[in-house]
Amino acid sequence: MEMDKLVSLCKRRGFLFQSSEIYGGLNGFWDYGPLGVELKRNIKEAWWRDMVTGHDDIEAPPGAPEAYEMCGLDCTIIMHPQVWKVSGHYDLFVDKMVDCTESKKRYRYDQVPGRWVEAKGQKVFVTTLAEANHEQEIEARALKFFNLRAKDAADLAWQGGLVSLAKIDPAEYVKALAPEAKALGTLTAPRDFNLMFKTIVGALGTEEDAAFLRPETAQGIFVNFKNVLDSSRVRVPFGIAQMGKSFRNEITPRNFTFRSREFEQMEIEFFCHPSSSLQWYQYWRDRRFRWYTDMGLSGERLQLREHHQEELSHYSRGTADIEYAFPFLPAGEYGELEGIAHRGDFDLRSHMEGKLDPNSKPELKVELGEDGKPKWKGSGKDLTYRDDITNERYTPHVIEPSAGADRATLAFLCEAYHEDQAPDDKGEMQTRVVMKLHPRIAPIKAAVFPLVKKDGMPEVAQKIYRELKKRWNVFYDEKGAVGRRYRRQDEAGTPYCITVDGQTLQDQTVTVRDRDTLKQWRVKVEEVTAELAGRLS
Ligand code: ATP
Repeated sequence: MEMDKLVSLCKRRGFLFQSSEIYGGLNGFWDYGPLGVELKRNIKEAWWRDMVTGHDDIEAPPGAPEAYEMCGLDCTIIMHPQVWKVSGHYDLFVDKMVDCTESKKRYRYDQVPGRWVEAKGQKVFVTTLAEANHEQEIEARALKFFNLRAKDAADLAWQGGLVSLAKIDPAEYVKALAPEAKALGTLTAPRDFNLMFKTIVGALGTEEDAAFLRPETAQGIFVNFKNVLDSSRVRVPFGIAQMGKSFRNEITPRNFTFRSREFEQMEIEFFCHPSSSLQWYQYWRDRRFRWYTDMGLSGERLQLREHHQEELSHYSRGTADIEYAFPFLPAGEYGELEGIAHRGDFDLRSHMEGKLDPNSKPELKVELGEDGKPKWKGSGKDLTYRDDITNERYTPHVIEPSAGADRATLAFLCEAYHEDQAPDDKGEMQTRVVMKLHPRIAPIKAAVFPLVKKDGMPEVAQKIYRELKKRWNVFYDEKGAVGRRYRRQDEAGTPYCITVDGQTLQDQTVTVRDRDTLKQWRVKVEEVTAELAGRLS
């Protein structure tokens, strides 16, 4: 599937629009249109239902070491600034960026791919910003730089494959051709760039009033750990879920909504005893992977990637990413949908004692400032847990499944896009665009049509529509040829279309059409609700 086809369908049918489009848009910000908002809401609701409200607190689910409880939270986007100092985001939530003195553009250096090439006795690292076909783009730029024609491509001696700028020693930047530059050596050395958006709270506007828009929802859960324990009767092991907006001032937002500056997360912090934390990690990793396959992402494009030992922080006993082969990525590459991390007691201890140095070994130690005192002071509140049966007191370990609602929505959209052949009103085969969304997340569950706008058909169809509307988001349409109406619903991903026709008036039956198989069958008018309920459940 070519990405531009999906992007244009999303705009044409109202799934996604560029934010502030009439003013030229704002890079890294996206709005969900009338269909998109329903799709994303359904995805978030499915997550909340499956992880929180529908969770059985009494019986251990398959693969879980024991039964556990789940509850939710909804915290503010702006929190006490100390939260981000203690969590490490203030000091460490940075991307390395390079500036180009020629184009005046700024790039995240690990997102600029390039290749070494030699010609005319000169060795150059040629980069590109192209989102696909990197090698072709780089070759075209190299030919231009060396003043060669396409037929002389053999004069380019390539050295090694595609690597990101992050792998190149900054001392060699003098030989680098920046993505939008004509001359060599225009890139500055990499510098840290904090991804948190800063804002001011209150009317004084001094630096002391500076606060941050949260870059993740997780910290709201950690700082409320004690509140949840004290106000509900949860016992470890239990999980707290939260979904909501997060903000990151990404240097190079791109790939449609994949890397946005404002996005929604769906996160769980699961608190457990240290001795069973590895089993819980494995449980959550597999449970979350299954959630995506249950919702219709195929095994082929979805993968679970376990991080290697060297990629892990030493206090973590495991991290895995659930990744999807987005069509905008080069063949064989995957993009992260969700990360599941074993975080040990890092977060709760940080909020008790002060910012921990993530590299201190073997025991995590509070990072000290030049004065020998904690660099960023913790809350000093006791965030340990006392098991009232064993009387043991300990700091729970945490498993964190952290998902992105927008990336999930994008993956479901990519997976759903299909083109096939279907007959038009004249019975001639035509290419059809159909969004094969799982019925649970489809924005519209069914559409109701009168075949023609007369003979009492609209009245019957509207009655059915009103009946169905009590339970689902359904759509009524009486305009234009019925084939066109089917096509519009196929593009919206509506799983079923119900048509009132001449026969309805004789035998009180309607046709039901299945979006994917195109099969049609007749159902009694009074049984339409039950038919749909059976198929949508
Ligand atoms: P990446 O490496 O792609 O920047 P990350 O590892 O920093 O992602 P996390 O901090 O683990 O991401 O965030 C958890 C989830 O939040 C991600 O798996 C993703 O689904 C979502 N997410 C993170 N950053 C963005 C973004 N800029 N736009 C959209 N979703 C995002």
